[in-house]
Amino acid sequence: MGTKTSDIEPPRLGEPYLLTPGPLTTSYAVKEAMLRDWGSWDNEFREMTHKMRTQLLALLGPGKSEYDCVPIQGSGSYCVEAMLGSFVPKDGKVLVLANGAYGLRAAQTMECLGRAYKLLNKGDYLPPRGDEVAAILAEDPAITHVLIIHCETSSGILNPVEEIADVVHAAGRKVLIDSMSAFGAVPLDVERTKYTAMVSSANKCIEGVPGFGFVIARTDELEAAKGNSHSLSLDVYAQWAAMEKTGQWRFTPPTHVVAAFLVALDAHEKEGSVAGRGARYARNRDVMVEGMRDLGFETLLADRWLSPIIVTFFCPASPAFDFHKFYELMRDRGFIIYPGKLTVVDSFRIGCIGQMDEHVMRKVVAAAAQALAEMGVNDASPPQAALDERKKLAA
Ligand SMILES: *Cc1c(COP(=O)(O)O)cnc(C)c1O
Repeated sequence: MGTKTSDIEPPRLGEPYLLTPGPLTTSYAVKEAMLRDWGSWDNEFREMTHKMRTQLLALLGPGKSEYDCVPIQGSGSYCVEAMLGSFVPKDGKVLVLANGAYGLRAAQTMECLGRAYKLLNKGDYLPPRGDEVAAILAEDPAITHVLIIHCETSSGILNPVEEIADVVHAAGRKVLIDSMSAFGAVPLDVERTKYTAMVSSANKCIEGVPGFGFVIARTDELEAAKGNSHSLSLDVYAQWAAMEKTGQWRFTPPTHVVAAFLVALDAHEKEGSVAGRGARYARNRDVMVEGMRDLGFETLLADRWLSPIIVTFFCPASPAFDFHKFYELMRDRGFIIYPGKLTVVDSFRIGCIGQMDEHVMRKVVAAAAQALAEMGVNDASPPQAALDERKKLAA
């Protein structure tokens, strides 16, 4: 097992690397898989759907027998909405644990669904911890489910899912996980953390193209979800029941995206599955973070919380630094970076996922060094306010 860096080749079509957490840089083989058409009714496509569901479940390891996989058309947010609307009964109540944009989006989704929820908002990046979740659950017996964001992609923090799930289960409540940007690269043992359902999508760590997401849920919870959904198209139970019966998606499936995803799944397996993929991403992060720190950049998060998915850096304090200029200069060198999402201080993000290895990450750092030089920034260290902000995390 482990990383086979030789399998990573530069984008053949000359496009820039996407240092973004999905859509991300995919292999040529993944793109090439989309060069033909499939009939959604045809047996060949039904077999493709079946194979995909089976391969995704296989990533759960030995605990998989109690789970099933239900793909849903749309982007990741459609799946989050489908999960919340399908597994939370109309009289249920969700504790949404937020420390960034995706947690807040889940709370907004509950608002749209018109179902009860409580929001624990930790701000831009502080992790929700087990003891505070336990206290809220003890105080509010109406809460039936807790939604945890696995990797909060807006800061790149890897939240302590197991710690939180343990207290949720101890309190007799159910766990829902948005593992969108972590599934396939960060292990989550279903024998230990028996979640009710989790969601991810095609264009994150499995390295497919965008177009659908998938729910992985306990089969007994899928059965119990009948009649819960507010929506026709986002009803996970109905999609599952129809797929079990006919092998088909209920409505037009993203056929080409599924074909590409199957190629991506095979590559994921060849790389050593979750461990192999996670090792390459962790190496990408380590090489990139070390290089950026050598240039004077500082990460928002201490090493303990840094995910192997995406890293937030503070913008330098130097008045010569301008993010838009930096973005353009990085783009000129073949790298698309991502603006930050912090509310308090200026930041930007660099993703570690997609068809990239440590050699690419070294080039990213070299490009950043050139961009700084061209802007006339000779010190990339952040303003004091950023460092003060970061101190809060040390607690
Ligand atoms: C990508 C992502 C989503 C879904 O975003 P879409 O733009 O709808 O694909 C949800 N949660 C997290 C944590 C994500 O990283």
